[in-house]
Amino acid sequence: MTLKNSGSDADRHKKVLAGLVRDREIREGGYRERALKLFPHVCASCGREFSGKRLKELTVHHRDHNHDNNPPDGSNWELLCVYCHDHEHEKSLIGKYYQGAPADQEKPAQLVANPFDKLDSLLKPKKSDSGSTGNDGGIS
Ligand SMILES: [Zn+2]
Ligand SMILES: [Zn+2]
Repeated sequence: MTLKNSGSDADRHKKVLAGLVRDREIREGGYRERALKLFPHVCASCGREFSGKRLKELTVHHRDHNHDNNPPDGSNWELLCVYCHDHEHEKSLIGKYYQGAPADQEKPAQLVANPFDKLDSLLKPKKSDSGSTGNDGGIS
């Protein structure tokens, strides 16, 4: 008897979920359409132009990577083709990786400076070898 109730609950839950998904699609489609009205249909990175069906390949990138930050003047938007958009996010991931690394890299960097001194002392004997034409003087 409570089965029917829970069944309708699940239905309601599904509807709420579907509504949330649709709401998000509308919201995202909303800023995309606004961005497409604001900017020329050109990838800001590679400069390719998109029109007709190919316009789908032009996406809206958020400069601060915050998809909820959608100022009406479009200052947080950048139109990028799907390829450049991917690249843009990879770049920022690599940037974050490097930003976290320097603390660990500083110590090895100091160690790398020492082998250079060794290299220098390795080079010096060669120089004195070639410069040891004084051997002639020693023989005579
Ligand atoms: Zn591009
Ligand atoms: Zn993006």
